[in-house]
Amino acid sequence: MIINSKDLLKQAQNHAFAFPHFNFWDSNSIRADIAAAEKLQLPVILAWAQKHSSEIGIEDALMLGKFYGSKAKVPVVLHLDHGTDPELVKWGAKNGFSSVMIDESDKDFDENVRITKDVTKLAHSLGLSVEAEIGHVGDNNSEDHSKYTEVDAAKRFAKLTSVDSLAVSIGTSHGVYKAGTPQINFDRLQDLKSNVKIPLVLHGGSSSGDANLTKAAEFGITKVNIYTDLANTSLKAATEKKI
Ligand SMILES: [Zn+2]
Repeated sequence: MIINSKDLLKQAQNHAFAFPHFNFWDSNSIRADIAAAEKLQLPVILAWAQKHSSEIGIEDALMLGKFYGSKAKVPVVLHLDHGTDPELVKWGAKNGFSSVMIDESDKDFDENVRITKDVTKLAHSLGLSVEAEIGHVGDNNSEDHSKYTEVDAAKRFAKLTSVDSLAVSIGTSHGVYKAGTPQINFDRLQDLKSNVKIPLVLHGGSSSGDANLTKAAEFGITKVNIYTDLANTSLKAATEKKI
């Protein structure tokens, strides 16, 4: 069954826990994600990221997501992750994703607000939930550095855009950490939680350490995005089987 993410994230916010968000890039990865969720009898958020377009295009991802998501025995959110092209996000919203992320976090505040607001209006008219990002969660493998989310900016952004959840930058990064688990700024997270009323999302969850992730959930994170750990485990398994 495919569901919207709004109620799930509100539930997580009210009870101080977080749902996992797993990216999928082929039929094996989506089937493995669903099998794990069914084993635990828990809802799961499955996502296709625009940056994975070269591995799997949006139409193929939707076909897999709708097929496996609708026959899953647990609720599945079919999410479009890091949509940087507003037109593509709108197309995804109209064609079967139940939740979308518009990510204009590399733009200035006003431009981020303008584009996010526009996509949110369309997505809400279709009954979908929207995630956006303020501050910037960078990438460990490039010069794309993270910028901490400012509390006032996050508060204004949530109010101006009417988004349903907000990805914040508090010390994690995308990709593999070069020096152990990341230093998460829990003081900033607490400030954000006290000032921003909508659910908060953590990107770069892979290899962030169980203690960090548990504490992040207790301090207000409602969704943890995981990709790198899954991709590396999948690669290792394929290599060991020598296929
Ligand atoms: Zn991310």
